[in-house]
Amino acid sequence: MTPPDILRLDAITKRYNPHQPPAVDQVSLSLRQGEILGLLGPSGCGKTTLLRLIAGFERPDRGTLYFGQQPVGGSTWLPPECRDVGIVFQDYALFPHLTVEKNVAFGLQRRGGKGHRKVVSGPGALSPTDITKHTAAAIALVGLEGLKHRFPHELSGGQQQRVALARALAPRPAIILLDEPFSNLDVQVRLYLRQEVRDILRQVGASGVFVTHDQEEALALADRVAVMHQGHLEQLDAPEVVYGQPASRFVAEFVTQANFLPAQLSPQGWQTEVGCFAAEANETKLAQAELMVRQEDLALVEEAGGVAVVRDRQFLGREYQYCLQTPTGQLIYARLPLGSAIAVGSRVAISVPSQRVRLYPALGRGTVPKTSSTSLSMPMV
Ligand code: ADP
Ligand code: MG
Repeated sequence: MTPPDILRLDAITKRYNPHQPPAVDQVSLSLRQGEILGLLGPSGCGKTTLLRLIAGFERPDRGTLYFGQQPVGGSTWLPPECRDVGIVFQDYALFPHLTVEKNVAFGLQRRGGKGHRKVVSGPGALSPTDITKHTAAAIALVGLEGLKHRFPHELSGGQQQRVALARALAPRPAIILLDEPFSNLDVQVRLYLRQEVRDILRQVGASGVFVTHDQEEALALADRVAVMHQGHLEQLDAPEVVYGQPASRFVAEFVTQANFLPAQLSPQGWQTEVGCFAAEANETKLAQAELMVRQEDLALVEEAGGVAVVRDRQFLGREYQYCLQTPTGQLIYARLPLGSAIAVGSRVAISVPSQRVRLYPALGRGTVPKTSSTSLSMPMV
């Protein structure tokens, strides 16, 4: 059975400037109990605005936000301090003059204050003993017991972000929001910490929205991934579906970093520079299209009369990435196992397994015709 929705956005729109398109445009989505939702998109697409709307730092111009069944953002308004939400920011936002322990305790003390009203159940007003206990538990959760008397400037970036996480988790909020929490960390710490954060969120059964512009991070961390583009939600699906069946040309390019080959419809099928692909009857409404071919799906065979030339080969550790030039000069990329070393300057024939190629309208934000993904055959080159 699908767990109940803990948070629901219904056609939420936020416009900062009347002369510009909305930062968030009619976004509808839901977060299930215990779910980690990855919010993925390029810089400026509206991710932070969406988090701020959920947290109550911004009011939507249109649409309604629900915590459980209760509307909290829309015609009914609940201020941020009354929403049962914890936030972790990109820049940690710790208090520099407070120790780790006091930073973590801060959120609990605020919650203990009078007049605090929460929509979703959690701890109520806390006694000083409870605050100490909750603080110690949160610090232990992120593995910083030994450092609780240090100040933020005495910690590494990764440690500071753990403090921020402990502070957000200590009051055991119903929802935790993380806004690009690892983007200021170097790559090794980022990889390690993202796994750790995922484990911690699972351990406490938190429901959360995790914002990132890194597709690999979103696919690795999230139960479902919401892909945003220019304020719109383009796709919301399991990571495997987003990667395997991107709903739009934008998602395909942003998430899979695939190649796109311009294609024209001919009596034989879709003609591209590297070969011809069979077309299905329902695709004949499009005269022009783009074929998406993932880097890992290209097979290359060295051939004197091959259609493409190897312009570059990069060693990526587990595989090679080849840069190939087509007759019109388009560069396409292929990733192949190390056994396949092909010399730069060689000509190669290209083939692609039929079921892996997808078709997208050549222009605009159109969605994929439902049956197009399986209709293409091997190139007849
Ligand atoms: P992201 O987090 O995906 O990078 P943001 O939500 O920060 O995107 O921004 C979305 C759009 O809204 C951008 O065009 C940005 O310039 C604009 N924007 C964000 N915050 C404000 C603000 N406080 N005032 C005016 N425009 C803003
Ligand atoms: Mg942002």
